[in-house]
Amino acid sequence: MTDKLKFAFYWGASCGGCDVAVLDINEKILDVAAIADIVLWPVAADGKYKDIEAMADRNIDVCFFNGGIRNSEAEHIARLLRKKSKVMVSFGACACMGGVPSLANQFSRGEIFTRAYITSQSTVNPERRLPQQKSYVPEGELEIPQFFDRVSPLDEVVPVDYYLPGCPPTPEWVLAAVQAIAKGELPPPGSVIGSEKTLCDECPRERKNERSIRKFYRPHEIIADPKQCLLEQGIICSGPATRAGCRARCIEVNMPCRGCYGPPPGVVDQGAKMLGAVASLVAANDEDEVARIIDGIKDPLGIFYQFGLAKSLLKGNIKQGG
Ligand code: SF4
Ligand code: SF4
Repeated sequence: MTDKLKFAFYWGASCGGCDVAVLDINEKILDVAAIADIVLWPVAADGKYKDIEAMADRNIDVCFFNGGIRNSEAEHIARLLRKKSKVMVSFGACACMGGVPSLANQFSRGEIFTRAYITSQSTVNPERRLPQQKSYVPEGELEIPQFFDRVSPLDEVVPVDYYLPGCPPTPEWVLAAVQAIAKGELPPPGSVIGSEKTLCDECPRERKNERSIRKFYRPHEIIADPKQCLLEQGIICSGPATRAGCRARCIEVNMPCRGCYGPPPGVVDQGAKMLGAVASLVAANDEDEVARIIDGIKDPLGIFYQFGLAKSLLKGNIKQGG
């Protein structure tokens, strides 16, 4: 018999970076191994779904689920792990908000398949074959998971106890979560495990707090002053609409924040908050001039909702099926 905790790690629609983030805690992984057995971690070990199905309900102490819900397999396993776990942690930007994969929610399923399997520059598919949920081969019927119309955050499919945002979550916060679990000192259910401030609060750059933007630039179009606020230099930086906690790691290398830690407390829609912040810094009074400057923002949906379209008020659920 063991009195160790049981952890499960699982991935839905994600890139695998969240799984690597667990290893980023370096030698502290030994502390995790000292307090917990990992009963499922598909990216690292060959676990079987049937073993999870055979477990008693609530047998797993904590499930760390990264990635959004894009297909029927992810939905099925999310429901299964919810049933088998005492605590469900939405781990990383994609599980919390849909993440980058949910930018595809602005397109129909048909458009996504056409782009991915027919028109993309790296594809050779003269017969224009698309994946079919069921196909028949001499050996029998093959079935792949159903591809849903949109990516959903985890909490649209199952109840979530805690949110650990970030793309990926930083080792400090992963460790903070594990230590809180080990000590039984978790915050109230529904909490975000992270800072209560905005990224601008922890950013070391100087701000003038005045309307200074006459033109917007993409990061490669300008050599940014490394001491001054990027947003005030006309580079879209999502700091005002993003939860602190990463120690401004993108800003440190002179790159703007893209908002992977999600909205800070009290902000419902990260993109709308950013639009307000940007508008307040445009240095023009004339309506046409304001419109001309704002028009200079390339791909506003992709920038303001890079990590959170599925969780936004827009949801990006523009087209169905196809
Ligand atoms: S907008 Fe970006 S660069 Fe400016 S203070 Fe906030 S986090 Fe720092
Ligand atoms: S600076 Fe922004 S995009 Fe970069 S890690 Fe921090 S929250 Fe994420």
